[in-house]
Amino acid sequence: MRNHKINCSNCGSDRAERHYIPDLELVRSQCPACDYLLVTCAATGKVIESYAPGIAAVHAR
Ligand SMILES: [Zn+2]
Repeated sequence: MRNHKINCSNCGSDRAERHYIPDLELVRSQCPACDYLLVTCAATGKVIESYAPGIAAVHAR
């Protein structure tokens, strides 16, 4: 698993991390500052799971 720091797209914190999970071809982004979570498919870019505080559920269009 490879990790690297990103800026949170929800709160702007630079403490957010992106984890690449090769076995599942998923990219998981999470932010410890605001509990933001985003899981996307690395192959297609499709959003698998998304959560951000104040937003109950965010669905891919
Ligand atoms: Zn955040």
